Amino acid sequence: MRKFWSLDQPEGKHPGRRLFAGRATTAADRLHRIRLIVGGVAALAAVAAFGVAPFAPDIADQPVTRVTQAVTLPELAAHEEAAPTSYIQEVRVAKGDTIASLMERLGVQDPAAVAFTGRDAVARELLKLRPGKTVSASTDDEGELLWLRAMLSADEPNARMLFIERRDDGTLQARQVVEAYERRVVMRNATIQSSLFAAADAAQIPDAITQQMVDLLSGDIDFYNDLRRGDSFEVVYEQLALPTGEVVRSGQLLAIRFINAGRKHQALWFDADGPEGHKGAFYAFDGRSLKKAFLKTPVEFTRISSGFGNRNHPIFGYSHRHTGIDFAAPHGTGVRAASDGTVEFAGWQRGYGNTVIIRHAGVHSTLYAHLSGFQRGLRKGQRVTQGDIIGFVGSTGNSTGPHLHYELHVNGAPVNPQTAILPDAQPIAANLMPAFRAHAGEMGRRLALAGGREYAQAE
Ligand SMILES: [Zn+2]
Repeated sequence: MRKFWSLDQPEGKHPGRRLFAGRATTAADRLHRIRLIVGGVAALAAVAAFGVAPFAPDIADQPVTRVTQAVTLPELAAHEEAAPTSYIQEVRVAKGDTIASLMERLGVQDPAAVAFTGRDAVARELLKLRPGKTVSASTDDEGELLWLRAMLSADEPNARMLFIERRDDGTLQARQVVEAYERRVVMRNATIQSSLFAAADAAQIPDAITQQMVDLLSGDIDFYNDLRRGDSFEVVYEQLALPTGEVVRSGQLLAIRFINAGRKHQALWFDADGPEGHKGAFYAFDGRSLKKAFLKTPVEFTRISSGFGNRNHPIFGYSHRHTGIDFAAPHGTGVRAASDGTVEFAGWQRGYGNTVIIRHAGVHSTLYAHLSGFQRGLRKGQRVTQGDIIGFVGSTGNSTGPHLHYELHVNGAPVNPQTAILPDAQPIAANLMPAFRAHAGEMGRRLALAGGREYAQAE
């Protein structure tokens, strides 16, 4: 079965939570609750509904609502299978829906609940929901409604929610509540069959998270040339979601394990100053900084570039006759400064076409050739930061198709960028190591959960 983990904080306030919090006090029950979401036909419908939830274009485009609650993990002690006693369904309102048709799709076989919702003044707000809005409900194994929830309107960062819930005496009650968006920690796994983005799509990982993953690992993995069919990855990331489960936007990538051609790459986000500080960075699980002095892939990797070996274009590796590495990429793809430095040259060179040369600290410089054009305003003497777009992929000079020709020079002589030994950034400070180790342990558990492995097998 497909993995679909979506763990929200147990201290939430809406009736679904409270229902579980009231009845399910043990770790086993909490794990069971997660199973409710992953298991069974009912849950497959919920997964499909989540799949069409709109994702915000990019975290950078909008202010992020930071919620500072600590992330808690479900206990992993219990693994016995228990028959679920309640089910959660999530559906979208369709054009022409009635309360009865909506309830039917939610798996509610409860004429009394349908009648209540039709006559109660608060519950009738459900009828004002426009098509496409999400409604979720929980029923017992006989189809009796336990609770229903829907978002009536959103005024960031608050949402006006409708709750219908069954009281202890068995009667139903409807009420409206204003709730804040919540931060969720989401875990996913994916295996690459055709392309990185196709794998991410299949696992419902938003593009914003895939891009963060590529940026993070492009110091270690050449995403243009090195991806293999069967490569796999697990990600843990944060998501801002309404209490209905509708995703507002994805947030920070928190941890990743990427298996590329049998080699494992792992990283986690660590914020020494706490969530308010925004000064976090990615580290290896042993505390080494993963910020590389030089990008291994100084080309933007986009949905369009994703694929194996870019078969339409020749790829040339480094050799004595060919003093650089070629990255076949679509015309106009951004070319990025491999490291901090100063622009030494931006102009035309015979054979190389439009070319940028950047001088870096120490003995290194880098060269970028065959560009279609330069970043606006780029000029000699300008300071650039690692990752800055300096120009765009083209086919100027002696070139047969759009690609970046990239050279790394040490003391003026070209070396193979894929094998050159380059300096790394600073590791975690010794006084922060205890906090870092605790955090790394938690993220290791989450990655194991995402991959469906037992915690004991996690590293
Ligand atoms: Zn070349």
